[in-house]
Amino acid sequence: MGEFNVALIPGDGIGPEIVAGAVTVLDAVSSKYGHKFNYTEVYMGGCAIDKYGVPLPQETIDICKKSDSVLLGAVGGPKWDSQPSENRPEKGLLGIRKALGLYSNLRPSILKPQLKDASPLKDEKLKNGLNVMVVRELTGGIYFGKREKGADWASDEEKYSVEEVKRIGKIAFETAMLRGKRVVSVDKANVLESSRLWRATMEQISKDYPEVTLTHMYVDNAAMQLAINPAQFDVIVTSNIFGDILSDLSSAIAGSIGMLPSASLGATKCGMYEPIHGSAPDIAGQDIANPIATIVSAAMMLEMSFGLIDEAKAINDAVDKVLNEKYRTTDIMSEGMTKVGCKKMAELIAENL
Ligand code: NAD
Repeated sequence: MGEFNVALIPGDGIGPEIVAGAVTVLDAVSSKYGHKFNYTEVYMGGCAIDKYGVPLPQETIDICKKSDSVLLGAVGGPKWDSQPSENRPEKGLLGIRKALGLYSNLRPSILKPQLKDASPLKDEKLKNGLNVMVVRELTGGIYFGKREKGADWASDEEKYSVEEVKRIGKIAFETAMLRGKRVVSVDKANVLESSRLWRATMEQISKDYPEVTLTHMYVDNAAMQLAINPAQFDVIVTSNIFGDILSDLSSAIAGSIGMLPSASLGATKCGMYEPIHGSAPDIAGQDIANPIATIVSAAMMLEMSFGLIDEAKAINDAVDKVLNEKYRTTDIMSEGMTKVGCKKMAELIAENL
C-alpha cells in the first residue's frame, strides 16, 4: 500500500470533465488496492489567466514540484486567443515542462482491434497492427529558441546541445530495450546543421546499446512511412517540433485522439501525464468528451512514476473490457455500439477494474 501526492491541473475546455473521469478511476484503484492518492487541484492555462492574470502562477509550480506526479487535462481556448503571445495559455504548458525539467515526451500509439474502423488507414495498411512509441524532445529546439521579428520578417531558432540530444536519446534507447529493440531517429540532416549534430549524437549513444538497432530517417520520409507502413516502427526519437507533428500523425492512425495518453519525464520520478489532445472547446461542458486518453495517462503515471505495474494493467484491461462490451463515446461511436457520455464512460471503467 502506498500514499502518493498528485497535483491535478484540470485546465480549460473539457479538461475538468476528463480529469474528473480519471479521478473516478484512480479512486477505484485506491479502494481495490488500498493505495492513498492525495489530490491537490491547481490552476494553469486560461483559467489561471482569468484568476491570477498569468497562465502559470508560482503557486502551481510550487505545488507541482512538491507532488509525486502531475495529471493534466488540457489548456487553451478561443476565449484567450487575443492574449499577447507571452501570456497565452500554452505558455503555461511550456513553462511547467521547463520548471519540472520534463525534457522527454513519450507517446504510445497502439491500434486497438476494437477501434480499427476509427483509423483513417485502409485495412491492408493496418494488417500488421500499430504499436509505436514516439519519444519527443520537449524542452529544446525551435519552441524554446530565440524569437525575432522585424517589420517584414520573423525568425525562430532551432538549437540543440549534445547534452540535450544525449539525454533524450538515452530515454529512447532505454524504452526500446523494454520493447522491440529498434530505434528510428528522425531528423532533417540533409538540410539542418542541428539535425547533423542530432544524428551524430544518436550514433554515439547507440554504442552503449548494442542490442538496439538504430536507423535514421528524414522527417518527410518518416511521415510518409507512418502513413504507408506504420507497423515497421517500434520507437521513434525526434526533436521537439518534428515530434509534435509525427506524434499527432501516429495518434491519428491509431483512431481517435480521445484515446491516447502521454508521459512527460525528466531526471526524477515526478512526471506529468496528460492526454495528447487539446481542450476541445467545441464540445466542452456537454459531457460528451472521451475520458479514456486521460484515464490511460493516469495508468501511465501509476506505472512510470509510482511503480504500480499491476494497477496500471488493471486500468488498461478495464478500458478494453468496456470497449469489448461495445460502450463508446461520440468520437469513437460506430454502428451497433452503445453511446455513453464522459462521466458514464469513466464510471464503467472504474466498475470494471
Ligand atoms: P483539440 O485536440 O482540442 O481538438 C481537436 C478535435 O478533436 C476537436 O474536434 C475536438 O472536439 C476533438 N477532441 C479532442 N479531444 C477529444 C476528446 N477527449 N473526446 C472527443 N473529442 C475530442 O485541438 P484544437 O481544436 O486544435 O485545440 C483546442 C485548444 O486546445 C486550443 O486552444 C489549443 O491551443 C489547445 N491545445 C492544448 C493542448 C494541451 O493542453 N496539451 C494540446 C493541443 C491543443
